[in-house]
Amino acid sequence: MSISLKSKFIGSILGTAIGDALGMPVEGWSPSKIEEVFGEVREMMTGFLPEGSYTDDTEMAIGIAETIIEKGRVDPDHLIKVFMHNYDPRRGYGISTTMVFRLIEKGIPWDEASKSIFNGKGSYGNGAAMRIAPVAVFYYDDFEELKRAVYDASRVTHMHPLGIEGALIQATAIALAVRKDPRKRLDVEDFVDNLLLVCESDVFREKVKKIGRMLAEGINDKYVVVKELGNGYESFTSVPSAIYSFLLHWSSFEDAVVYAVSLGGDADTIGAMTGAISGAYHGVEAIPQRWLEKLENYEYLKSLGEKLWELKTKSK
Ligand SMILES: [Mg+2]
Repeated sequence: MSISLKSKFIGSILGTAIGDALGMPVEGWSPSKIEEVFGEVREMMTGFLPEGSYTDDTEMAIGIAETIIEKGRVDPDHLIKVFMHNYDPRRGYGISTTMVFRLIEKGIPWDEASKSIFNGKGSYGNGAAMRIAPVAVFYYDDFEELKRAVYDASRVTHMHPLGIEGALIQATAIALAVRKDPRKRLDVEDFVDNLLLVCESDVFREKVKKIGRMLAEGINDKYVVVKELGNGYESFTSVPSAIYSFLLHWSSFEDAVVYAVSLGGDADTIGAMTGAISGAYHGVEAIPQRWLEKLENYEYLKSLGEKLWELKTKSK
């Protein structure tokens, strides 16, 4: 393989942060407003944070990477402490994660806190999927371990089955991307079939099937993609769009992430998720240097990818 496993690990972590930072200035915008104001978002810009800054998505992915590096696995008791230690409210955290943190601060155990929100059903927001890259690369070669680790990394804040399922589908997409050789043409139909195997609910199964149909029809109109797959804050209205952005532009990291951000809505998270898959597929070399130069905490993020790779290759 021309692209090393190490490059793919680093590419997925940095890809998360790059997509997050690129989408940050247009989070909550409609695709038409993005088009009117910028045409497209191809450069880092200032938004609610300075140019090149990442948001909660990457801050939480950092927490997961730190836990795996320290504990050798996803230890949920450790992870929730790291999440709360790293928590910087300026980074635009989602409502459900903030609610869970507040309850834990009041002395409620994390599993009760996570379960108690939204009428005792837990959150099905995309917060578990957006941060999953470190888990996905670390367990890319073992689906059963991956599934267990995704569950532990998700349920500390997102207890709803759809929140966890979204994270599992996103993680599976990243793991598949790690395993593919980017020099060969990507079989997108086969990729979608593999994702269908991990779907548990009708909600996700229908969305993933729709991805396959839309790709076969060659649909690249972003308004159609938003209408059919969504650009929202729920796991099932953002994970499918992120995967679609990657599969539509599988041959270019830059084009995939620019497309994901152009969908608007939860643009930083959709950008982060597409960046995680595309970075895992191509490796870090495919990420434009002009973006990496502007990225906050670039060296630290890169070191997390390196350490995950070292730990992975050492444990074999
Ligand atoms: Mg965010």
